[in-house]
Amino acid sequence: MTLVTPLFETVPLETALRPAVLSSREWLTSRYVRLRLEGDALRGFTAPGANDHVRLFFVPAGQDAPATPETWRELPSREYTPLNADPDAGWVEFDFVLHGEGPGSTWAASAPLGSAVAVAGPRRSSLVTAEPDAWFLAGDETALPAITRFLRSRRPGTPARVILEVAPENELVPIPSDPHTFVTVLVRGTDDLALALSALAERDRPHGAVLAFVAAAADVLPAARALLLQRWELPAEAVIVKGYWRRD
Ligand SMILES: Cc1cc2nc3c(=O)[nH]c(=O)nc-3n(C[C@H](O)[C@H](O)[C@H](O)COP(=O)(O)OP(=O)(O)OC[C@H]3O[C@@H](n4cnc5c(N)ncnc54)[C@H](O)[C@@H]3O)c2cc1C
Repeated sequence: MTLVTPLFETVPLETALRPAVLSSREWLTSRYVRLRLEGDALRGFTAPGANDHVRLFFVPAGQDAPATPETWRELPSREYTPLNADPDAGWVEFDFVLHGEGPGSTWAASAPLGSAVAVAGPRRSSLVTAEPDAWFLAGDETALPAITRFLRSRRPGTPARVILEVAPENELVPIPSDPHTFVTVLVRGTDDLALALSALAERDRPHGAVLAFVAAAADVLPAARALLLQRWELPAEAVIVKGYWRRD
């Protein structure tokens, strides 16, 4: 039997811009909401990789939905991770952090049901080749949809270490849990993801072939790279470290 090292592999996808409407809003905490977008154009939507992402275009309150893909692309837009989707029924769900400002956070918190939005992408998909012996997943609320999807996609019984930094209001945000998932929640203001990653040593490395995903504010990335690539010496192809937003 040939053993294949588990790696992330990026494959291109055909990009489409799919107009939709906001069909439901579920408050998971006072600062984290799940929105369902629905529409005929979402039939056939697929995002096979756990950290695949799309660009959402938001129609500002009081404006009509654009008529062409070109005019959609002039609207404010941000990147989000599809969490759940039904390509037959034509809907996709996203979890949004409500951090206070910005077109994405504002639309997620307050756009009336029925508001127009468009989903563009994903342009590429990050697929896992072969099964790892263990997962290391870390980030903040923006990474939680991708982390949830990595946890769901695991071979049953594969251990995962999860470190999540959240706002105090999001301390009880739902995180998938089972006997093989070891979760540490850091509350922002008291604890800090970059410091927690910096405190992990060589002896903390999960055993065997590890796949690692870290997504958070851009200033967390150096601590993540130093841990995964230097102290734990994971191959670069087994690591995704990505800035999902920038602090001012
Ligand atoms: C590949 C990818 C996938 C992503 N998936 C998700 C997802 O599934 N769910 C999700 O909520 N976000 C996700 N994000 C992050 C999201 O795109 C950014 O947080 C984005 O900046 C939000 O846009 P906005 O309009 O709300 O705020 P912006 O207009 O971009 O920023 C306004 C202000 O808010 C600050 N800010 C932006 N984001 C945050 C934050 N998260 N916490 C605190 N302050 C912030 C900025 O520093 C700025 O001061 C993803 C990003 C990427 C790159």
